[in-house]
Amino acid sequence: MTDSIFSKIIRGEISSHKVYEDDFVIAILDIAPLSEGHTLVIPKEPAETIDQLSDDHAAAVGRVLPRIARAIMKVTGATAYNLLQNNGQDAGQVVPHVHFHIIPRFPDRNEAIEGAPDKENGPGLRVTWKPGTLTPEEALELGKHIKRLL
Ligand code: AMP
Repeated sequence: MTDSIFSKIIRGEISSHKVYEDDFVIAILDIAPLSEGHTLVIPKEPAETIDQLSDDHAAAVGRVLPRIARAIMKVTGATAYNLLQNNGQDAGQVVPHVHFHIIPRFPDRNEAIEGAPDKENGPGLRVTWKPGTLTPEEALELGKHIKRLL
């Protein structure tokens, strides 16, 4: 398992702006925030991607995510937020240790609103979502194989 920068932060070898810690999880402010309050929620288990995470650590993250999101919303006054979780380089993951981004959204600030020309240069999350199609036959076939493994 890779010893990532987040493992070093968890062990206290590298400093961070920690906002939460329990036996399984820490939450820190992102060092290069996309918006005010951008926070990373990180299980202490050094799994690279979420499919490698144990049930206990997954449950521990799930237990605190809503609470941390509520605190961030309250403190920043954000009207919304995105939860972003990248798994693998092809998905844009840079740090190979599971982490959840909580990214507060402020529609009135200089951040991501798709197609708003005056707002395109500032920091922020820009999500491009181009839906494809799924036929009933494809869904049946794909669903059958996935269900078999669960
Ligand atoms: P990802 O692309 O999902 O792997 O995102 C990694 C995130 O970790 C980025 O948003 C970085 O800004 C953030 N990051 C990297 N190093 C640190 C650090 N030492 N403290 C806080 N955040 C960090």
